[in-house]
Amino acid sequence: NASLAASDPEIATMVEKEVIRQHEGLEMIASENFVSRAVLEAAGTVFTNKYAEGYPAKRYYGGCEFADVVENLARDRAKQIFGADHANVQPHSGSQANASAYMTILQPGDTILGLDLAHGGHLTHGHKLNFSGKLYRVVGYQVRKDTEVLDYDELEATALREKPKVIVGGGSAYPRIFDFARMRAIADKVGAYLMVDMAHFAGLVAGGVHPSPVPHAHFVTTTTHKTLRGPRGGMVLCTQEFAQGLDRSVFPGQQGGPLVHILAAKAVAFKEALQPEFKLYAAQIVANAKALAEALQGEGFRIISGGTDTHLMLVDVFAKGILGSEAENALGEAGITVNKNAIPYDTNPPLKPSGIRVGTPALTTRGMKEDDMRIIAKWIAEALEHRNDADKLAKIKGQVGELAEKYPLYGFLREQALA
Ligand code: PLP
Repeated sequence: NASLAASDPEIATMVEKEVIRQHEGLEMIASENFVSRAVLEAAGTVFTNKYAEGYPAKRYYGGCEFADVVENLARDRAKQIFGADHANVQPHSGSQANASAYMTILQPGDTILGLDLAHGGHLTHGHKLNFSGKLYRVVGYQVRKDTEVLDYDELEATALREKPKVIVGGGSAYPRIFDFARMRAIADKVGAYLMVDMAHFAGLVAGGVHPSPVPHAHFVTTTTHKTLRGPRGGMVLCTQEFAQGLDRSVFPGQQGGPLVHILAAKAVAFKEALQPEFKLYAAQIVANAKALAEALQGEGFRIISGGTDTHLMLVDVFAKGILGSEAENALGEAGITVNKNAIPYDTNPPLKPSGIRVGTPALTTRGMKEDDMRIIAKWIAEALEHRNDADKLAKIKGQVGELAEKYPLYGFLREQALA
């Protein structure tokens, strides 16, 4: 019964370093967040030991009486947050959530119409190297070159021509709100299903600051670890008619036993998302993103589509002659974590793209507000201007550290780490 520190100091040390890294830096990767202590505790419980193949009251293993309560709580809370008929909370990841939804309605070779990866879609929406692109026939839709926002007339024309079986809304790097009602109308017109992958903005929907796809879509998939601020994992919501088929697609279709410790952590996160404070949190994420986008524009940066309605923005750093990869490295040196990202109609290659993607969910969890965003925008501008000046980047990192200190993260863990 040795502790982690005693039994495996190599791993224990990395955990401690990661605790400090998360506290000292500014986490601006749009898909990341910081879970609460309660979520973290639930994820680290003995439920990790439990096999619970099947569903509550219909398990293939004994000893599931407590796991059943956990999964029912997670399902009921998910349904309550999003007003959904049915929730399957077992997918281990967003990718498996999407695979399960597809499997419920598609046969191999059927056509998916999804947002191109290069225009903000996700790999699972039909990239040729992903299972979605290998199993299904994929047609992409794009944003307009002039506005960098979706053109629904164009989407409708593509749908009429290609006759997809499913149209997929949502993405990983699209800063605007999807018109779910219009997408459903297009889907109905061509006899397709509508699936919305709300992985990125699920927390904004939960907090009531973003339209919900649930009333419009046959399937809504999500990860639980982004704006929703739960543990890493996935979930699918659907209308009653697909409930049984979906459950079969998740288990035994895509997975074996659910991760019961993660179901517990999902349940805890969903309870948090049902509290009134979560509405304030979601509103602050968006307010912070808008403030950051405006401040970056004030520093002379071109923001894709001219701004954001959500938690994320794409910055065209190449308009200032900087590659996204260079920007990611320089900001990393300055203690600011972002990821390089292609921009629509990018003329540069994926590993050296023209943009960076920047998001506010994690900093908002720490309590940062618009004034902090304006300071951070200045540091981003300075770091990029002086990207080859190690001293300057180190100086910014020092300032970043001082700001981080004002918004402590995981103090209880840092005490252990520094002990
Ligand atoms: N869907 C969208 C829109 C995403 O952005 C992501 C992850 O980035 C996923 C699905 C996949 O989630 P996971 O990494 O859990 O497989």
